Amino acid sequence: MIPRLIVHGGAWNIPPEYEGDHLNGVRHAIAQVYPLLRDGCTALDAVEAAVQHLEDDPTFDAGRGAVLNADGEVELDAMIMDGATLRFGAVAALQNTLHPVHVARLIMERTEHNLLVGVGARRFAGEMGVPEVRADELVTQREWDYYEGARRDPAYSTRRSFQPEHESDANVAPHGTVGAVAVDRQGNLAAATSTGGTAMKLPGRVGDTPIIGAGTYADNSCGAASATGWGEYVMRVLLTRTACDLLRTLEAPEAAEMAVDVLRQRVAGLGGLILVDRGGRYGFAHSTSKMAFAYVDDCGQVVAGTRKGSQTAAG
Ligand code: ASP
Repeated sequence: MIPRLIVHGGAWNIPPEYEGDHLNGVRHAIAQVYPLLRDGCTALDAVEAAVQHLEDDPTFDAGRGAVLNADGEVELDAMIMDGATLRFGAVAALQNTLHPVHVARLIMERTEHNLLVGVGARRFAGEMGVPEVRADELVTQREWDYYEGARRDPAYSTRRSFQPEHESDANVAPHGTVGAVAVDRQGNLAAATSTGGTAMKLPGRVGDTPIIGAGTYADNSCGAASATGWGEYVMRVLLTRTACDLLRTLEAPEAAEMAVDVLRQRVAGLGGLILVDRGGRYGFAHSTSKMAFAYVDDCGQVVAGTRKGSQTAAG
């Protein structure tokens, strides 16, 4: 079948001055990885590669550029899932690592476990030969400036970053979780997601990203999905599993919309998701004002946007 790849770079109040970087970042990830998928690489390799590109990009809240927790430190969550076998690997609160999605993949393939956290995850990564990076190599000036401001701001709230009412508020915490979903030539599906979580989170906080069925899910019998947004709410409705279940009866675009409706209506949640069904159709939706996304359309063009309905094709 014709392979498919869709990525996201976070659902939040992306300020106009950051939109160009978000669009370039998601377009670049697709442009780098789709040719590999077209040439026969697996969906698992494609989603890992796409997420690694996005983790390298300081624009996004993943790998380099991740947000800082309340102690001014980076703690990363990631997950990857194979729709053929339902195997997955995940890491949470991992430090000193540029590519947590790769550590998640190693957990899936080299251990009998699914999820490792904190110091144990870091030790495992070291044993697998994953290079450590200095903590400050992951931190951008943007995040540091924001952290310093947020520490002094008694009105600081995560809500500002996600709630559409705060779209023109200059004081929103940077976000930009990243995710990728693919189907390969063999019809196998995979999904991966990576994040620094929410700014000013308590040390040790784990979001939706590495929780199976919340931030990430893939099942060859229905579809695969990656979510982003305020994780405490995304988790409550198991957003990606809900979306994949809906694919059993709905077309991909409707399943994405319906899953986000569940998020909105059941828990007043703010977030979004991308998905691909087993026939290779895309869906995406968000309850935030914006979500950066890109995919390859039927003509092989990269289509990108920051709002549903705003997408443009390029190249
Ligand atoms: N979902 C992520 C978390 O709560 C954050 C985000 O997508 O912006 O950890």
